[in-house]
Amino acid sequence: MYSVRMRATKDEMHISGAERLVDEKDVKNVTQSMIERARSHDRGKPDKINISVEEIKIPIKEITSLPINLFNVNSVEDGKKAARKVLIHIGIPDPCIEKAFTLLENGPSDGENMRGAMVMNFKGERLEPDKRRGIRASHMDITPGASLQLADALSVKGMTLHFTHIKEALVLASKVASVKGTIAELCWSDDPFYTTGYVASNKLGYVRIPHLKTEGDYHGGRVFFVDNVNITDYIEEIEKTPVLITKFDGLGEISDFNNIQENNT
Ligand code: AMP
Repeated sequence: MYSVRMRATKDEMHISGAERLVDEKDVKNVTQSMIERARSHDRGKPDKINISVEEIKIPIKEITSLPINLFNVNSVEDGKKAARKVLIHIGIPDPCIEKAFTLLENGPSDGENMRGAMVMNFKGERLEPDKRRGIRASHMDITPGASLQLADALSVKGMTLHFTHIKEALVLASKVASVKGTIAELCWSDDPFYTTGYVASNKLGYVRIPHLKTEGDYHGGRVFFVDNVNITDYIEEIEKTPVLITKFDGLGEISDFNNIQENNT
């Protein structure tokens, strides 16, 4: 197996990125389609595309995805309330939740977005050594079979348009949740026109929340809430251990938060 990764930039600014875990015979096709994707991104035409192809020499961890739970809200105010409720239910201390929101709303790297994620412990301390870069989840993918299960579930809900976005976020969130020490993840995009975000955890699955910021807001990012971790080992696993999702764990809806179903897988 090979890890194939792409990153496209214009004037050093991030345009797009993608990554896959593929058999040797598929490296050529996947590389080609990544280049095509990079060149047709709606954020603009890149002036630099980096592709890396790396043989995987350690065993690949196979996992089941987190289940998706749709938490439908109609406003940013309700979206943020929903995300806070979910994080409290998972057990994240209130001051950490407030700090995470403030950082994501204002730009966690001196007012700018980070390339990767913050890591926050239960004292609200940021553990990532590089506060501009953060830590980057990498070396992960989903099998064609599990991807089809996800596509079918989204199609039933009339959400096929969101397939690529959800697939990529679910792969990342499932890998992060599978790493020992992760308790939850909070994410919303830095794309000013993509206002959906999520709270992911082993306890409640991938809770998708349609409004976590207002349109036009270019701030976004990720926080990995952790407990009891050795930060060096944690970063190594998030960034380097290859993880393949071989099964999709289903899609549900949260209509009554007080009656929320916990994920027992
Ligand atoms: P995106 O979901 O691609 O819009 O990314 C939203 C934010 O999540 C970015 O601004 C980064 O701070 C962070 N991020 C993006 N990709 C990764 C990654 N692979 N690992 C950790 N954090 C990431």
